[in-house]
Amino acid sequence: MNYESPWMDDELRMFRKTARHFIEKEFAPHQDCWRKEQRPSDDAWTKAGEAGLLLSDLPAEYGGGGGTFAYEAVVVEELARAGVHFATFIQSSIAHYVLHYANEEQKREWLPRMALGELVGAIAITEAGAGSDVKAIRTTARRIGEHYVINGSKTFVTNGWHAGLVCLAVKADPNAPGLKGVSLIAVETKDLAGYRVGKSLNKVGMHGQDTCELFFDDVRVPASNLLGGVEGRGFSQIMEKMTYERLAIAVAALTTAERAIELTARYVNERKAFGSALIDFQNTRFKLAECKTEAHIGRVFLDRCIADFIDGKLDDATAAMAKYWLSDCECRIVDECVQLHGGYGYMTEYPIARMWTDSRVHRIYAGTNEILKELIASSL
Ligand SMILES: Cc1cc2nc3c(=O)[nH]c(=O)nc-3n(C[C@H](O)[C@H](O)[C@H](O)COP(=O)(O)OP(=O)(O)OC[C@H]3O[C@@H](n4cnc5c(N)ncnc54)[C@H](O)[C@@H]3O)c2cc1C
Repeated sequence: MNYESPWMDDELRMFRKTARHFIEKEFAPHQDCWRKEQRPSDDAWTKAGEAGLLLSDLPAEYGGGGGTFAYEAVVVEELARAGVHFATFIQSSIAHYVLHYANEEQKREWLPRMALGELVGAIAITEAGAGSDVKAIRTTARRIGEHYVINGSKTFVTNGWHAGLVCLAVKADPNAPGLKGVSLIAVETKDLAGYRVGKSLNKVGMHGQDTCELFFDDVRVPASNLLGGVEGRGFSQIMEKMTYERLAIAVAALTTAERAIELTARYVNERKAFGSALIDFQNTRFKLAECKTEAHIGRVFLDRCIADFIDGKLDDATAAMAKYWLSDCECRIVDECVQLHGGYGYMTEYPIARMWTDSRVHRIYAGTNEILKELIASSL
């Protein structure tokens, strides 16, 4: 099928080539080691920075690539295509929090280092007792003079191990009602007294991606690190910037589904049963035809969302639709592709088996798909 995203152009094609070459050469061969360590290698972030893969859609004056979201989409697609779990989209998303809510001095201090991979970003909202229900967070930040003193803990933090800059959701005013009590504070973690990273969490998939608990015990940060400069704006800041994360997850989800179809089409042409190739069975053809149709519908919708996002027109509800529908679609397609691989689909040496366990979390993080349906419904 000769379909190409309408936002693609020559410069992006060149960028894709560079990204693909880099990922195949520098990241793909080390996946067993990343999985064993449960995180990317220590030099992975600086290597990605050198190759120009980080902050590709941040303004050049802050060290970014000066491109649009299409550049980030290309990076996410190429990582998904190679089966490499490396959360550049979290890095970019944190950079956008900094770009929009930090002061000028902080932007000049943090963003160029993030673009080089010398400073890794993470967002820490979830706690043991508060996931979907953000207002239930219990991490506090008490203002004392020119500092905030932070106490509490966070869990499931992507990039947690490597993070040098944590965008942390806290309750600054314990008396503020519900979501109005949530604020975001940027925490620089290097040599920070009272800050501790827990061990990597054991996940069912995405084993090479760094996911940790973080602990804060009387951690002091400058009061100027309160993002936006006013307490109580955290939830609306999260809602504003979550569109970025959700769209990036939609890109990863659909690319994984497309890759699964490609691999499975190859497999069923080669594998024989009852004297013929699996592709000769009508069930195989129909299932793959359904998968391909669904993925193509998804691609056209996703491209529209990407174009709207670049134009500053993508609303929260549509971004939620993209993340919810495309991650559901991914899981349906990948599951069908596992089935068409038979027993080999259950063996981790086959990429389709890893895709099956890796893809499941797309329906859970950055807002579960149920929460996203609530968000979509609230626009009705
Ligand atoms: C691998 C991984 C990486 C992650 N990375 C990060 C990260 O970097 N930073 C971060 O802050 N968090 C991160 N998370 C956390 C993730 O965002 C949460 O797990 C998610 O928001 C759900 O919260 P929960 O796990 O507490 O589930 P719960 O909120 O307890 O939900 C459990 C179930 O109840 C449903 N439910 C809850 N409320 C409602 C409702 N109102 N209506 C209908 N159904 C509802 C949910 O949809 C879900 O099915 C990550 C999680 C994972 C697994």
